[in-house]
Amino acid sequence: MSLLVSVLITLATFSFMEFWAWFMHKYVQHGPLWVLHRSHHVRPSPRPFERNDWFFAIYGALSAGLFITGANGQRWWFWVGVGIALYGTVYFFVHDGLIHGRLPFWKKTDNVYLRALNMAHKMHHKTQGRDHSEEFGLLWVSPKYLRLARQQAGKKAR
Ligand SMILES: [Zn+2]
Ligand SMILES: [Zn+2]
Repeated sequence: MSLLVSVLITLATFSFMEFWAWFMHKYVQHGPLWVLHRSHHVRPSPRPFERNDWFFAIYGALSAGLFITGANGQRWWFWVGVGIALYGTVYFFVHDGLIHGRLPFWKKTDNVYLRALNMAHKMHHKTQGRDHSEEFGLLWVSPKYLRLARQQAGKKAR
């Protein structure tokens, strides 16, 4: 497998995962699997681990399986595993770390894009119930939050 193809598969998987995470969040986690996801909407979280964390375990196991059977990158699905693992890592740092403060060392940022993500996701958490929530994606943020984040940054600079 050439380097270019490996990189392309990884990037395509990473992008697809944002769509997949949005879809799962909107139609499955806020649907039939609300039993697992509800723990994430109870704020503040009573325990260090939430039932919702099972989703990380599931994707972790999936990408581990792809690594193990992927013949050290000889098989294309190895790179699908890399894309899933990368997305999971970014998701964890941004969503659980920065937005929900579960990491001790990264609770604030001045980056406009990350602040926009934070605003959009806080909007998602406005409702504690299963229904009537919005903003189910994570890294794909609607321009209105980018505008808001830019305005805030402008005010701070003055
Ligand atoms: Zn949710
Ligand atoms: Zn959240």
